[in-house]
Amino acid sequence: MSQENHPLVRILPSALAEAQGDQPFVAIVRCREELCRWLRDPLPGLRWLQVEGILSDSDAWMEAAQSGSEGLLDLIMADPCSEFADLYKVVDISAVHDVRVTIQARPGLLKAVKLAAALRLPVRILPGQPSSDVLAELKQALDFYLHAPAVEAPVEFFHSCLANTQAAEAASLWMILEEDPVAYLQHDINGQAKLPRSDWFGSTESSPAQFVESHLQSLLEQGAECAACAWRQSCRGYFKWPDRTYSCEGIKDLFSAIQAASDEMARDLASCVLQTTNPT
Ligand code: SF4
Repeated sequence: MSQENHPLVRILPSALAEAQGDQPFVAIVRCREELCRWLRDPLPGLRWLQVEGILSDSDAWMEAAQSGSEGLLDLIMADPCSEFADLYKVVDISAVHDVRVTIQARPGLLKAVKLAAALRLPVRILPGQPSSDVLAELKQALDFYLHAPAVEAPVEFFHSCLANTQAAEAASLWMILEEDPVAYLQHDINGQAKLPRSDWFGSTESSPAQFVESHLQSLLEQGAECAACAWRQSCRGYFKWPDRTYSCEGIKDLFSAIQAASDEMARDLASCVLQTTNPT
């Protein structure tokens, strides 16, 4: 997708976000005071709040639910195994603000996805480079997303990858997951730009605008398995970052399961249309 369609959004610690004015930005909040400050008095450029490490703070959620403003909250769940039950604490605030749950793909992922779905909250799973145990949970989460009647809100990245299978031009996984620095540029506590899942933007790396394409290009030049991968159009080397030696065998199975689900839906739809046009 072009940058014109996705104006750059800077993702910044709360204190640095104060200087953004009406430039598009996401403020990272890590305590009750920061959360309530932005809900009380947002700047014009604020797109949403990235909430880290305070999911268990019931008082923060009670206070935030009483704030008058409307806002988007992206709740980051870094350790789903220990944090998933804390989702019950945001039930009240989800009635006042739009809430999304971002879940790092770690043990406990499946329980977190199921509870978020039961609470009707949209989900973004950040898969990173999952271990075999976590891959098994990802596959179960995909199955749950595809078949459980309780699922009403989208579960990314499954949702957009499913749409990609029917689209003329596939969206890149980096963009779907809001990790492409051309559109979502993360900053550290000193205000330095950094790459996703990395603490730095080194001099050997390309510019934010070129990062994804030059990463993929260098993988292809080095003979990585991406060259023959059927999912390269949408993945664009996502699972080879930061460790280029990561094996994608399990990831390809996951993509294949998404494709199979899409094919099945297309068959069901075709048969439905046939029955409607030819009822006898
Ligand atoms: S799934 Fe793996 S091999 Fe395929 S394009 Fe993505 S990173 Fe490359």
